Amino acid sequence: MTIRLRLTLGFLAVILLANSVLFLVMESYVRQQLVREVQERVAADLDGASRAYHDQLEKMGLFLRAAAIRSPMVVQSSMEGELSRLLTVLREEGRFDMLTLLSPDGRVIHRAHHAGAAGDDLSDNPLVSRVKSTQAPAWGTLVVSAEALQREGAELAERARIEVLDTPGARPDNRRVETRGMVMAAAAPMFSSESPARMIGILYGANLLNRTYDLVDTVRDRAFHRHYQGKPVGTATLFLDDLRIATNVMTGDGKRAIGTRLSEVVYDAVFNQGSSWYGPAFVVNERYITAYEPIRDPDGRVVGALYVGMLEAPFVQPQKAMFSVFLLAVALTTLASLILLFLVTKRMLRPIDRVVTMARRVVAGDLSARVGIRPGGELGLLCKAVDEMADAVVAREEQLKLATSRQLGQSEKLASIGRLAAGIAHEINNPLTGVLTFATLMQEKPNLDDQDREDLELIVRETTRVRDIVRGLLDFARESPHEKRLLHLNGIIRRTTRLLRNQKEFRHITIEEKLDEDIPWMLGDENQIQQVLLNLALNACEAMPDRGTLTISTFTLDGQIIVTVADTGHGIKPEDVNKIFDPFFTTKPAGKGTGLGLSVSYGILQQHNGLIEVNTELGKGTTFTLMFPPAPPEAMQDHPELHRTA
Ligand code: ADP
Ligand code: MG
Repeated sequence: MTIRLRLTLGFLAVILLANSVLFLVMESYVRQQLVREVQERVAADLDGASRAYHDQLEKMGLFLRAAAIRSPMVVQSSMEGELSRLLTVLREEGRFDMLTLLSPDGRVIHRAHHAGAAGDDLSDNPLVSRVKSTQAPAWGTLVVSAEALQREGAELAERARIEVLDTPGARPDNRRVETRGMVMAAAAPMFSSESPARMIGILYGANLLNRTYDLVDTVRDRAFHRHYQGKPVGTATLFLDDLRIATNVMTGDGKRAIGTRLSEVVYDAVFNQGSSWYGPAFVVNERYITAYEPIRDPDGRVVGALYVGMLEAPFVQPQKAMFSVFLLAVALTTLASLILLFLVTKRMLRPIDRVVTMARRVVAGDLSARVGIRPGGELGLLCKAVDEMADAVVAREEQLKLATSRQLGQSEKLASIGRLAAGIAHEINNPLTGVLTFATLMQEKPNLDDQDREDLELIVRETTRVRDIVRGLLDFARESPHEKRLLHLNGIIRRTTRLLRNQKEFRHITIEEKLDEDIPWMLGDENQIQQVLLNLALNACEAMPDRGTLTISTFTLDGQIIVTVADTGHGIKPEDVNKIFDPFFTTKPAGKGTGLGLSVSYGILQQHNGLIEVNTELGKGTTFTLMFPPAPPEAMQDHPELHRTA
């Protein structure tokens, strides 16, 4: 999996998680808010509906009271014709389904629309009995029997009749048809005009609520003002007992949905506990938020219920729209973030691509490959570090090449010169010995003149010099040291300096020793090492013609034995430094230097697995550093007594 993919997935996960959490929080908050608001609204609507219902009742009561005050003369006159006319007018004015004049003790004197049916006793009617006892108007909701309705007229009884439909969830009941009627009724006393006034009758009026739709429509219109998609937002229903007797909820085929019954849950709350009930419901084919309130008769018994329901859609729809907008926004921002991320990661990861490509090229051998770019931050540092690493590799490679070629060159050169020198030296050595021997013998002849003696001296001197050179060549060409023994460098150094202090060439030179007694023992050829020290000391002396200091030190570094031979002489010219170990390289006048001292020393160091290096500064001095490996432990085991001292 690429970093980029990982970044993208991680980012996506974060966005989705964050948005999901946000969505859930918002959703639950909005829902809570909505539920609260809707409940408040429904409670208010139910309140409005209930007020509309009771206003209607009160209107009826007040109308009857006004009528009762207006009409006592007619009642007292007891003229049948006038009474009938008065009640008919009042009934039409008050739009009563029934209007009846009763005697003060509750017997029917006259029915406005069914003149023949008189004489029955209505004193059981709760409103009538209340007026009788209080002599004040009263109103309320009543349930009247089928017979009572029948007495008021067949057409009224027929209107009250409602077939009971099967309703799933309703309280068990095997009623097939409802013949009783629920009425809004009012009664008002009539008094004589003499004083003190005496009650001469009771006006009793009622309106059948079964199938009376204008009441529920009025209730609905007063409670709900809004419309939603052309439909009223609210509905209202009246229940007689648990049966829907008037409603503006419509069935699928456009009829008023009466005849069905309340669910048992609601029935229990409203009828058994006498309290209001709120909750969602599925009515016909829409979701409603509903509220029910008990309707009580004048004695306080629950005889029916008033229902208001509000379409849920107008509330839910904006919520849904809001969620859709939110989801759309989330989708868009996620998409935008991903595009942005795509671009950003591409930019961000470009340096890594470059580093990988560059590293591959370097591995393939192209040491000139570099990352080249320097972005900000850690990646910039990475690019820089990688480039620096490549530079370091190049430098190291070059150094190594140089060192090996130099070393190879030097030892090859030395080897070939050595072979050549050895061959020549052998050839020269014998005749040279002959010349020297005979020249020396001749010197001893007694009859030599001065000139001859002088010439012979020259021959002997020069031949001796040549012999020295030839010896040097033979030394140089010797392939292996004579014999390696355990030795301690400090001892050899002390013996060498003692030798030097006695030479007249060293009289003007201060010789100092700084010897570390703790340096380890080594394996070597004492004579050869002494020769190296002598060569170096001689060179130092020749570099300090006036006066100077020669310092020889020993110490241990990284387990190696180090000897430094330092002078305060004139130093070596930079252009000569690389040549001083070459055989026959000399800066000294002819006859003085052979140019073999350092190359012979180099060969000896090599045979001891050691190294020789030079550090020089023109006019200040030169330091030669020798490095020897310490003797291996197995060589030391034979000489435990040698461990510390020289
Ligand atoms: P030679 O001493 O015969 O010239 P060497 O091999 O001993 O040959 O030295 C080579 C050259 O290195 C010398 O000629 C001299 O130029 C230079 N040299 C060696 N040692 C020193 C030194 N201590 N100070 C200055 N130059 C030196
Ligand atoms: Mg020399």
